Amino acid sequence: MPAAPTTTTDVLVVGGGPSGLALAAELARRDLSVRVVAPHPPQPFAPTYGAWFDELPAWAQVCAAQVWTDVRVYTGSRPTPLMRPYALLDNARLLAALLERGGEGLCWTQGRVTGAHQRGALWHVQGNVGEEWTARLVVDASGHGGLLLPTPFAGGAALQTAYGIVARFKQAPSPPGAMVWMDYRAPHLNTAEVRAEPTFLYAMHLGADRYFVQETSLIARPAPSRDVMAARLHARLEALGTPPHDAESDEWVAFPMNAPAPVPGPVLAFGAAAGLVHPISGFQVAGALNDAPRVAAAVSVALLTGQDAAAAGWDALWPPERRAAREVHLLDLGALLELPGDRLGDFFAAFFRLPAAEWHAFLAPHTGVRRLARNMLRVFVHAPGAVRLPLARAALKHSGVSLRALREAARMKESARISHPSAAPARHPEAMTQSDDTRREANSGDIDQQEVIEEGMQGATGNVDADGLDPDVNRQKKLEELRENIAEISGEGR
Ligand SMILES: Cc1cc2nc3c(=O)[nH]c(=O)nc-3n(C[C@H](O)[C@H](O)[C@H](O)COP(=O)(O)OP(=O)(O)OC[C@H]3O[C@@H](n4cnc5c(N)ncnc54)[C@H](O)[C@@H]3O)c2cc1C
Repeated sequence: MPAAPTTTTDVLVVGGGPSGLALAAELARRDLSVRVVAPHPPQPFAPTYGAWFDELPAWAQVCAAQVWTDVRVYTGSRPTPLMRPYALLDNARLLAALLERGGEGLCWTQGRVTGAHQRGALWHVQGNVGEEWTARLVVDASGHGGLLLPTPFAGGAALQTAYGIVARFKQAPSPPGAMVWMDYRAPHLNTAEVRAEPTFLYAMHLGADRYFVQETSLIARPAPSRDVMAARLHARLEALGTPPHDAESDEWVAFPMNAPAPVPGPVLAFGAAAGLVHPISGFQVAGALNDAPRVAAAVSVALLTGQDAAAAGWDALWPPERRAAREVHLLDLGALLELPGDRLGDFFAAFFRLPAAEWHAFLAPHTGVRRLARNMLRVFVHAPGAVRLPLARAALKHSGVSLRALREAARMKESARISHPSAAPARHPEAMTQSDDTRREANSGDIDQQEVIEEGMQGATGNVDADGLDPDVNRQKKLEELRENIAEISGEGR
């Protein structure tokens, strides 16, 4: 990396996290001069980052420290195999790859930004010890909450929190060879405890007797404290009869999940500062790596042609469809906040009964509003009454959003009817037994919501499992295929 120039750069990126660096690298690849300002030198990102392997761009897949094909959730006593490889990122490799991608056009300046203002065509950015840097465009990638473009969290920030350790175990605390994405079983807690503070285990077998085990609160306002979460983790391990020994490290996770779509302004934002954390999963890293080239392309064209680069970046990052989808996700998040904690397992049981492509889409950063709304309705239809009522209440509370979503779904149904005039709606056998209930709860809007709910059931025909496979498929064979695919991608066995 070249020494920091004293001259003006095309772009100044505030923040040296994965998002800021990903965008900086893509901008530099397009022959722009880019300065990253962060309070620290380039250093491997501290958090333990996981991502769905298929969501990582190809160049980042080789930065995986480990990839699991046995990925499961427990929403009840039996595991649900997700059949979707999951990766733990090697942060040192990811950092090196990003710096290499940026090449000569990227410089790193150690400093803490305190403010920025525009004079003429240039931005003047101030550091906390009197520095001033100039650039044609400023990007706020300073992390959750934003520095130059503070995030307004409606009703206050709703946080994901977690406490995890890497340790050695005499007895396996989770299935050897597996990644447990979510384990809501908690026989060691009473219902009142679970209801008040629902948490789940997220666990990775790291090889031999090493495991990463993390107690996680998906989303809460107010959120449980670090002490509560650490006590929960140790109580779980104690109850499992798997106390850790030789703990290597611990990690506290706390970040907001309910960022709205930002209002575009003259400063561009990116990463967590731009509200890109997924409101249901809390994921962001893979999304930022994928968004960076598109946003960088828009910014570089605008800078080259003398257009408004911030506006071009905002349009590329938050197109109208993504903004509408955020509203639906925030509605879902509101529903999850209202759900009694002991019902979260049931909610996710219904969620993972969606066809695989649909739950993948629900957790993906760029899924359109219609598909999200349809899947939300499918989950609603599959969920037991105790889950459906709070969901319906949340939908009514935010009726503007839910009706918009329902209308979108209704429009979708209408166009489907026009293109398939004689198609009989597919019905899920279990959903048929719920139809009276569903009808009662649904018939309260200014459109025929029952029809919309049935539309939501399209495709959920009962002939696929959570992993989207026919129940008769040979899972062992499928796993072997997945392993072979991964070996091919990672270069192993060549
Ligand atoms: C512990 C933890 C674990 C997580 N795990 C996952 C996961 O497994 N998968 C996933 O997808 N997401 C995960 N997330 C959520 C999210 O993806 C991360 O928070 C991610 O780090 C956000 O990336 P970012 O680059 O936007 O912000 P950050 O990583 O927060 O980086 C912000 C950068 O801005 C710098 N900065 C801040 N203020 C200033 C200033 N005034 N001047 C200059 N620089 C400044 C910081 O020093 C840092 O370099 C996790 C979050 C946490 C906290």
